[in-house]
Amino acid sequence: MNILITGGAGFIGLNFVYHLLKTTLYNITVIDSLTYASHPKEIRKLTSHSRLRFIKGNIVKEKDIETVMDQEYEAIIHFAAESHVDKSIQNSDKFVQTNIIGTYQLLQQLLKGYVKKMIHISTDEVYGRLNPTDQPFTETSPLSPNNPYSATKASSDLLVRSYYETFQLPLITTRCSNNFGPFQHIEKFIPTIVYNAFYNYKIPVYGDGLQIRDWLFVEDHCKAISLILEKGIYGEIYNIGGGNERRNIDVVKQILKIMGRSESLIKYVEDRKGHDRRYAINSSKLQNELGWNQTSDFNQSLENTIQWYIDYLERTFL
Ligand code: NAD
Repeated sequence: MNILITGGAGFIGLNFVYHLLKTTLYNITVIDSLTYASHPKEIRKLTSHSRLRFIKGNIVKEKDIETVMDQEYEAIIHFAAESHVDKSIQNSDKFVQTNIIGTYQLLQQLLKGYVKKMIHISTDEVYGRLNPTDQPFTETSPLSPNNPYSATKASSDLLVRSYYETFQLPLITTRCSNNFGPFQHIEKFIPTIVYNAFYNYKIPVYGDGLQIRDWLFVEDHCKAISLILEKGIYGEIYNIGGGNERRNIDVVKQILKIMGRSESLIKYVEDRKGHDRRYAINSSKLQNELGWNQTSDFNQSLENTIQWYIDYLERTFL
């Protein structure tokens, strides 16, 4: 069975490649343009595996996509995206290109019939912000993105929806909460804290630090995607939440404690523009209809993740 993974050199994509190599016999093709957020060495190292093929390519460019369409695929798992909210606020151009036009290009390939289905990986950020006492978002909550990143993801979700409704293409969308685990770029929340704490640098915390995020361990996310690949229903959307709502400041303090660092490293900085106060999603559809369950313990997974970054920093920078 041939599977095409877009963005397979990035954080979640790379974890998913490892997950598939470990748990299946699929032949995997990865297309990734190797942006700053990717892991070129890691993905090139993996090409020594007989079931993995890597092609450097940009999903915005039709020619690059056609290069990988030299065989039929059982599925595309579409992770490739520009994913950092702060960068989208500075300049949204690449976000519009990759997240919207890139998704459109892939949908066009499905129309040509080279691919049997596509799982489009989206985000809980498309639902916008929740107040502290609101119920978590469900798949039918309205889309209400508040920053350019989430707006481009919401746009791609709507394109996917329209291609399902108009052409009855075999498409499924997933919306996950904040992931954590190995291979995330150092610019993101948990790696930034670990990196700064490791070097005893100040740790920037946006606003009052009371924003709430629902943390999902990347391995649980990968298992959910595998299940959806196997049993997901076309045209459906599945929320994948962590069930671990935490205030940002509490996560910072927990990491400092695990790393034996002082809370005096915390430095409150001006809040991000359009910063959503709380995200939380309800995953009961995935649990009840497909039987997914989160198996990782948040505290243990966080400790393992911190250790992974410490090992990485020691290997790479010392
Ligand atoms: P990432 O930024 O770590 O990785 C993205 C990968 O896509 C990189 O390897 C990059 O080189 C590649 N890429 C970017 N533009 C490309 C292009 N034009 N052509 C080909 N490859 C390109 O992102 P991530 O955190 O792994 O996120 C993966 C997906 O999951 C994204 O769609 C994101 O919106 C979604 N998501 C992530 C999170 C999270 O917590 N990380 C949460 C919700 C949803």
